[in-house]
Amino acid sequence: MWEEQKMRQWLQQHLPAGRYAHCEGTAETAVALAARVGVDKYKAHLAGLLHDAAKSLSLAEMRHYAEGEPLLDTMLWNSRNLLHAPASSGLCRRLFAVDDEGILAAIRWHTTGRVGMTLLERIVFLADAMEPTRNYRGVEEIRKAAQDSIESGMLASYRETFCFLLESGQPIHPAGIVARNAILEELRPTKGEPLP
Ligand code: GDP
Ligand code: FE
Ligand code: FE
Repeated sequence: MWEEQKMRQWLQQHLPAGRYAHCEGTAETAVALAARVGVDKYKAHLAGLLHDAAKSLSLAEMRHYAEGEPLLDTMLWNSRNLLHAPASSGLCRRLFAVDDEGILAAIRWHTTGRVGMTLLERIVFLADAMEPTRNYRGVEEIRKAAQDSIESGMLASYRETFCFLLESGQPIHPAGIVARNAILEELRPTKGEPLP
C-alpha cells in the first residue's frame, strides 16, 4: 500500500478543497465512532479518508476503476453519484494497492449500504453523513440519533437521503432499500415477530 502521506497528496490533487476537507472530517468522525464500538481505529481512519477518492473523476474514469468490483448493475454503472463508491474502492485497490478487504468493502458500500453490513461499513456510512463539515437539512437529526446508536444514526441518514431522492424525483437504489429494512428490523423491539 502507498504511504498514507502519498495517498493524502493524491486526494488533495484530485479533489476540490471542500471535498478533501469532507474526507478528513469523515476519517475523524469514523475514528470517534470506532472508539465507541471497539472497531480498529486505523482501519476506520483510512476507510473514512479514502471513501470518496474517485468522487471527482469522469463517468468513464469511474467505470475504469469500478470494473471488476462486485455487484455492479446498470443503475450504478450510469450514475456518477452511485458509481463513485465502487470506483473509489477499485481505485484504492488498484492504484493505492490497499489490500484490506474490510476497508475496501466499507468504501464500496458507503453510499447505499447493504444487508449485513460490518461495523466498519456502518461506521463509514454514518461518519460520511454526519462529519463536522456537513451542513445539509436534517444533519442535526442524524447527529442526535447517532448519540443513541450507530444504527439509529444510519436510519436517520436513510430518512434524509430517501426523502431528498423522492422530493427530487430520483430513483432509489434497491441495495439502500433492503439495507434500511435490515437495520429497521435489527432495531425493532419485537424483532423476529410478525409485522402488522
Ligand atoms: P458524498 O459522496 O459524500 O456526497 O455522499 P454519498 O456517497 O452518501 O452520496 C453521493 C450522492 O449519491 C448523494 O448526492 C446522494 O443523494 C446520492 N444517492 C445516495 N443514495 C442514492 C440512491 O439510492 N439513488 C440515487 N439516485 N442517488 C443516491
Ligand atoms: Fe460518497
Ligand atoms: Fe462522502
